[in-house]
Amino acid sequence: MAKSNLISLWSSVLTELKLSLSKTIFQTLFTNTKIKEYQKQIVTISCPNSYLADLIEKRYYSLVKAALDRQTGQNTSLLFVVAKPTAKKNTKPGPLFNQPPTPHHQPLTISKTGLSSQFSFNNFVVGDANHFAFAAAQGIIKNPGANYNPFFVWGGVGVGKTHLIQAIGNELTRLHPDWKVLYANAETFGSELIASLKEQTINKFKYKYRHVDVFLVDDIQFIAGKEYTQDEFFHTFNSLYLAGKQIILTSDRKPEEVQPLKDRLTSRFMGGLTVDIQPPDFEMRVAILKQKAEQRKIDLPEDALTFIAETIQSNARELEGALIQVANQAQVQQIRPNLEFVKNFFGIKRTIPGKKASYRHIVSAIAKYYHIKTSILTGKSRKKPIATARHIAAYFLRRELQLPLQRVGQILGNRDHTTIMHAEEKIDRLFSTNQQIRHEIIAIRKKIYS
Ligand code: ADP
Ligand code: MG
Repeated sequence: MAKSNLISLWSSVLTELKLSLSKTIFQTLFTNTKIKEYQKQIVTISCPNSYLADLIEKRYYSLVKAALDRQTGQNTSLLFVVAKPTAKKNTKPGPLFNQPPTPHHQPLTISKTGLSSQFSFNNFVVGDANHFAFAAAQGIIKNPGANYNPFFVWGGVGVGKTHLIQAIGNELTRLHPDWKVLYANAETFGSELIASLKEQTINKFKYKYRHVDVFLVDDIQFIAGKEYTQDEFFHTFNSLYLAGKQIILTSDRKPEEVQPLKDRLTSRFMGGLTVDIQPPDFEMRVAILKQKAEQRKIDLPEDALTFIAETIQSNARELEGALIQVANQAQVQQIRPNLEFVKNFFGIKRTIPGKKASYRHIVSAIAKYYHIKTSILTGKSRKKPIATARHIAAYFLRRELQLPLQRVGQILGNRDHTTIMHAEEKIDRLFSTNQQIRHEIIAIRKKIYS
């Protein structure tokens, strides 16, 4: 990736981290960090010294990884290294270094309320999957602290929980400029609590969290199993609740499934209104993509957008990730992306003109990709990685060569045609829902035709 893209990628990641960390922790840990390299999904992050590198790795690995995964649309691994003192180079940067920043980079404003102006109702797409949550949010905005308290929103990753509650926070701030609205990730709440105990600033901590009019707590499942944090959260909750302040919680699971959790908290969580957000349906996916393309000034024709919406079925985050990947790739190749480009990008094109691979070539390329022998791939083993590789082989032989089911069964170790049919269906489904498999298929296709 070009250096300017790395800079812009890291700056987007930092913007996200700012949302989840306290200002002090953020500044202490992340000032002067940068991405040194990003290759094969491994992101090398350079830190000013080994202490910080260790600390970030130990305490914030998953947080940084999650942000990077979101921004890149990939399943990244992180490597923390210590920056060497830089000697000034007198060599001119290569042409790639002069590229403009990636189209998805946007400066954001985040205040000490934890709110980001990026999330509003204007850019929140409403559809079947989230209309209850949306309607409840509107009710809360009209009448905060009244009927829906607490408001508990749950749903899988990337379905828009953070977006929704941030939008509520922003809207309430707009309507009541004198109110204190506070957004915090539950993990931040926990780590600030521990820090305040060490630094003997617990009163400051209590003041910060108990003197607000609206408290938005993201990813409350983090406090599961953390007894001390739960106790403090319970008291914070009660103090706000009794004062009639609005509390909003999100979680990746239902309130009763946030476990282990003290019963008294479970009952608090269930004491108001609970709604879920489901993965978006096709119409919503198209609308979300349009919205994101507009926001990030990515120019993609309608048919190309629709194609992405058909291909990526999991959630808004993955849709956005795919859109960014496509835009970045088009930028690298300096072309305007269209349907053809997007199809190629996802490796969906079934026949590549001028090239038709033989079945032996395909089977051997897949075996090589998974580092197994062809005889094992077509052999008896049912171990998971080998079986998956075999399913992928079935998928390729069907899709690339349009071979009949029986023939594919023969090639892959005399298997029954129904086995092949199920394998093909399974991979087809995974292609839409599982990033890892999608990446593997794209990589294998490149291998076959390179
Ligand atoms: P969650 O908190 O549920 O994991 P986020 O709120 O972080 O998900 O959403 C992931 C990305 O998808 C964000 O960029 C968000 O703006 C976007 N997104 C999610 N739902 C919607 C929606 N309904 N309309 C527009 N964008 C959405
Ligand atoms: Mg979230």
